[in-house]
Amino acid sequence: QLAIEAVDVTRSYQLDGVTVEALRGVSLTIPRADYLAIIGPSGSGKSTLMHLLGGLDQPTSGRLSIGGRDVSQLTASEMAALRNTEIGFVFQAFHLLPRTSAVDNVALPLVYRGLGARERRRIATETLAKVGLAHRVDHRPNQMSGGEQQRVAIARALVTAPAVLLADEPTGNLDTTTGAAVLELLERLNREDGVAVVLVTHDRDVAARASRQIAMRDGVIV
Ligand code: ADP
Ligand code: ADP
Repeated sequence: QLAIEAVDVTRSYQLDGVTVEALRGVSLTIPRADYLAIIGPSGSGKSTLMHLLGGLDQPTSGRLSIGGRDVSQLTASEMAALRNTEIGFVFQAFHLLPRTSAVDNVALPLVYRGLGARERRRIATETLAKVGLAHRVDHRPNQMSGGEQQRVAIARALVTAPAVLLADEPTGNLDTTTGAAVLELLERLNREDGVAVVLVTHDRDVAARASRQIAMRDGVIV
């Protein structure tokens, strides 16, 4: 069963009357429980591809389906609902609310589920335990180490039980040891819970740990 399928997808931007072709015909299938690393130089289209895979953006041409739904057929609010159920995002710079407790950061995506505050807190607490942060539930990100903050961000991405985690340079702001621990966490979630992981990285050693690697250059997979 496929989590995401892209067939001959292009994405171009208009910039001051000039067309920039960020993706020029990309086909990619991401099965459930995949662990895929994407490498490539700056400007090769990795972020553009991640935005598309995560339903944050629509292709200019080609076909893209997420969780079996053709994204070209969806309204903006259907796209938002699809992101909230199928996809979790992890970023290089964590993007947590710095003065909000870890549990409230993690519970945030559940607000759109119509769950009560107690239920949200219960699920968020369980998810923090899953990433090894049961003892940090009421800490704020600005009181935590970088590795802990990234684990909070991973818990926030997981709290909606998505099929796919999209991680854009998740270890880019971390030292080698802390980064390795974050990678081990992603690997365990992939192995034990069957969450598909799609990782953008500049680090060849990080990419080598994935079960598949693709390299991008000038908007295509090479
Ligand atoms: P990468 O993530 O590999 O660095 P990007 O996907 O960010 O590559 O960019 C691919 C190309 O598309 C680059 O030439 C970039 O400048 C261009 N690009 C990306 N996003 C936009 C945008 N919103 N508007 C215009 N050009 C963009
Ligand atoms: P990062 O390297 O942190 O992933 P990027 O440089 O890829 O950040 O992109 C940051 C944001 O700016 C993205 O939303 C991307 O679409 C946009 N962007 C990237 N390149 C351009 C560009 N040449 N013109 C306009 N927007 C761009």
